[in-house]
Amino acid sequence: MSEDDALNTPVMRQFAEVKTQHPDSIVFFRMGDFYEMFQDDAKDASLLLDITLTKRQNQIPMAGIPYHAAEGYIARLLSAGRKVVVCEQVKSDDPKAKIMLREVVRIITPGTVVEDHLLSGYQNNYLSVFWQEKNTVYLAFADVTTAELVYFYYTATEKEKIKDTIERFSPKELLYAETSKQSIPELGRDRQLILTPLLPEFLPSDKQTGAQVLVHVLDCYLKYNYRQHNFSFKSPRLIDESEFLGLDERTISHLELVENENNKNHTLFGILNRCTTPSGKRYLRQRILFPTRNPEMIRSHWDKIEILISGKKERIQVQTKLSEMIDMERVLARFRGGKASPRDMNGIQKTISAYGSVKETLDTIAFPFADLSKELVLFGTLLEERVFPGELPVFLGNSPFIKAGYSKEYDLATLAKEKGKDWILELEEREKKESGLSSLKIRYNKILGYFFEISRMQAKDAPDHFVKKQTLVTGERFTSPELEEKERSILEADEITERIEKEEFDFLIAEALKSFPNFLQMATEVASLDYHISLTQCKEEYQWIRPEIREDGKMILTDARHPVVEAFLPLGDRFVPNSLDLDPKEDSIAILTGPNMAGKSTYMRQVAINQILFQMGSYLPIKSASLPIVDRIFTRIGSGDNLTTGESTFFVEMKETAYILSQFTENSLILFDEVGRGTSTYDGLSIAWAIIEFLSGNFPRPKTIFATHYHELTELEKGKGIFNLYLDTFEKEGEVLFLKKVKKGKSKQSFGIYVAKLAGLPKEVTERASNILLGLESKKREIKVRKEEPLLFGNLLESTLPGKSVSEERILKKLKNLSINSIPPIEALQILEELSRWSKEKE
Ligand code: ATP
Repeated sequence: MSEDDALNTPVMRQFAEVKTQHPDSIVFFRMGDFYEMFQDDAKDASLLLDITLTKRQNQIPMAGIPYHAAEGYIARLLSAGRKVVVCEQVKSDDPKAKIMLREVVRIITPGTVVEDHLLSGYQNNYLSVFWQEKNTVYLAFADVTTAELVYFYYTATEKEKIKDTIERFSPKELLYAETSKQSIPELGRDRQLILTPLLPEFLPSDKQTGAQVLVHVLDCYLKYNYRQHNFSFKSPRLIDESEFLGLDERTISHLELVENENNKNHTLFGILNRCTTPSGKRYLRQRILFPTRNPEMIRSHWDKIEILISGKKERIQVQTKLSEMIDMERVLARFRGGKASPRDMNGIQKTISAYGSVKETLDTIAFPFADLSKELVLFGTLLEERVFPGELPVFLGNSPFIKAGYSKEYDLATLAKEKGKDWILELEEREKKESGLSSLKIRYNKILGYFFEISRMQAKDAPDHFVKKQTLVTGERFTSPELEEKERSILEADEITERIEKEEFDFLIAEALKSFPNFLQMATEVASLDYHISLTQCKEEYQWIRPEIREDGKMILTDARHPVVEAFLPLGDRFVPNSLDLDPKEDSIAILTGPNMAGKSTYMRQVAINQILFQMGSYLPIKSASLPIVDRIFTRIGSGDNLTTGESTFFVEMKETAYILSQFTENSLILFDEVGRGTSTYDGLSIAWAIIEFLSGNFPRPKTIFATHYHELTELEKGKGIFNLYLDTFEKEGEVLFLKKVKKGKSKQSFGIYVAKLAGLPKEVTERASNILLGLESKKREIKVRKEEPLLFGNLLESTLPGKSVSEERILKKLKNLSINSIPPIEALQILEELSRWSKEKE
């Protein structure tokens, strides 16, 4: 058989039809107890899921998974950035139909899932919409599980801003219209983001614009994926970027706010997260990524923490209650997606009652906390009246769902079922005894219902009132008028309980959905409380203090610490606190020098992290702090290769720098670490120099720390608003002690060779390096003594090299603009050697 023949069967034609409609998804094609995948889907799945690749009819690549294990496999495919189309068998209305019909029942995509095991409790799961109207881009972020819907708008050319916003929200999926594809900014390739083009039928009518389109598109897409659903969103909220402290993706990652390559706990989130509830964790993550610029909000957070500090006993009581609550937002999302379980009612009941006692406790310490809404009080009463008080089943029908005494009909039917069971046992005993047949048993299956079963040997002696139903190899099956009658009443009772349970369950779900906004409000209240408790615990554990807000733009940090570095210092080490004082109208640009390993990066990061904590409304790891509200934190730290986008390190460094220089305001905090190191020394130094001058030319000046190994930059101190800071060291008998103390002034030495020694470079290499360094430094001193400041290298060369040609003139002219101090010893030596060779040749 050829592959074409194999494909030309009724089943494969069914598959082909589904696949044509969903070319970008993996189709789970139900066949009996398996989901089968075919062709490229099978090949991809076998790699991604590590399952065997076989061939259907020896021709078509095929891989399968048991239907009951699908959840785990789906989770893996989604995290690999794939979508899954679930295609189930359905009964045909046509009795003569030869094969089962198959129907797509759900399209599972990373941005629309509601199942717990497919979601991270720590993080919102955003579905984004990118919509362009003429020159305006609307960018929406919707969380199907929490009903949150926010949006921004930009002009289409603001690609950097759009990119920053997308990266900050980290959506799992982005919907876009094909016509606006070229306006979507390029995002890092390692980002797990699925881009989903909108089908033509999802596109809005001409009358719909802006926010209306976003909601329309989301609704169409959810309908398409779920086939039927009850999802809705809170009314879309336009976000004004000026509400939040601006943090771009690079800054978030440099500062290790929520993620760290090696250890998830070594992040700001890891330190702050003492949350008991998943909604609290999500709220915390959002506050870290979106600190506010609103002073009132900041103060209200601090006030709440203050209450929780003095109400320690109450705080602990409340925390125990929070741990009894379920993730309401996500449970309600499952209700809306038609995935509710009866057991969820247990969770809701517990949560409502726990909320009530939390409210009572918080009232005693006057902590602001919303009342339980009357809708939820009512819903609690409904549950109490109707639902079985013990553990509820995961699926209806397995164990009681309805409370005894609530429905007479249900109670009678339940009794009948139980009696029926006893009666069956009794009948079995009686018939066995009367017939004397030891193998006689009453059994049940879905097709035959109840029946007697007698072994083959004894079947011929079956009593006369037994009527044969089925013959098996091992024995015979019978019924009797008595058994039939009882069976009828048991089945009737089953039907009744099933019907009533279903009615009640559907009723309760509908009621819960009616109170959806109340549940959401309750979840937000709980999340925010959990957040404040978390921050209070950090305050107590690490002795944090309440900072002050100031309006004159000055930033005064006294003895600040880095909360994450401090928490994970090796045993016995102590974190050395450091201070900073920046004044936009006076000294606002600090040039920070110091040897490698001295603590420059830590210092800069701790300044930024304290600022973020401040705008999150947290207390700070510091002795005292009086800070302004800043609009953005920019960082340009390290020169990590950006190989994923194929750009050179230096190019990326300059692109990021260009972005910062075009965006900062007098209210920004800018941290530059080693800018200009990615190119030749002269280029790099000149660029760094010019950047600092550019920043200082802005008045009032942005708050800036510029860490550098170019000691030459410390010369700029005399300029406008620029001052020097260095990390102090202590040297004794060849051993260098990094004191980690920031002081005013410039660093004396670099200690690069010392650090290389610590890192285990061979002794021959470090000794040779020390000798070379000595040589270089004496040469440099030699040059320096020959002429007084401002000595220009070119002048020096001019005086030492008579009779130059035109091209040499040009080199000299170039060199002339560099101060001798700005040329690091190694280059100075090379140039001198080059020139002496050259002058010898001339002679
Ligand atoms: P390089 O120039 O090589 O990048 P650096 O000057 O930026 O080095 P950091 O990376 O900040 O140095 O710090 C070096 C080490 O010192 C880190 O392991 C950090 O944990 C520790 N450290 C930094 N600052 C302090 C401090 N204030 N108190 C205690 N330990 C600190």
